[in-house]
Amino acid sequence: MTIYREERQQLIDCARKMERYALVVLSGGNVSMRMPDGNFLVTPSAMGYDNMQPEDIVLIDASGRTLDGIRRPSSDSAALLYIFNHRPDINVVLHTHQPYATALGLVCDELPADFVTVIDELNGAVAVAPFTRSSDEGMGQLTVQYAGSARAVILKHHGAMAFGKSIDQALSAAVYLESACKSYLAALSTGLDIAKLTDEQIADESQERGYYGQPEN
Ligand SMILES: [Zn+2]
Repeated sequence: MTIYREERQQLIDCARKMERYALVVLSGGNVSMRMPDGNFLVTPSAMGYDNMQPEDIVLIDASGRTLDGIRRPSSDSAALLYIFNHRPDINVVLHTHQPYATALGLVCDELPADFVTVIDELNGAVAVAPFTRSSDEGMGQLTVQYAGSARAVILKHHGAMAFGKSIDQALSAAVYLESACKSYLAALSTGLDIAKLTDEQIADESQERGYYGQPEN
């Protein structure tokens, strides 16, 4: 019996949603999750998500050693572990090659907090981290350095890292990042002045109102 079978399937389901929301193509990107025992589940290196099985997901320890798995873990594992090891509040990291965020990273230093989705789902403006080569721990170091309180970082010339306490939170961050980058690029492409929210409006929007969503049973 495969340890963490249910959680492995959750990683696969998440990766397929990343594909459905056009955040990755083919075997691009990866999904990783902190487990209660202090180890990590990571999607395998260079495998498409369509036929991925729970057995293909790899369990690694905090130093990157494979504990359980028949595949090689993502080549970005060192970067992912750097994030997990330096941000104990993060349980799930998604790495994507989402096109609109990547495009924005070529022309801007940040996605500003001028959208309610960026304030509500990403916890504020998303920074663009400078280029570092892929499959390198530097990707993780820059993510930690540039994240601030946001739930994502855009990796220049590459893609994005989105993260959160849960798969749902990390996936929401990645999807809303993409949709806001699309809107911002559309606004920029007009060449007209871009409207800004004031710091007061951003602070007011970020206040919990206690209504959004459904009550817990
Ligand atoms: Zn990548």
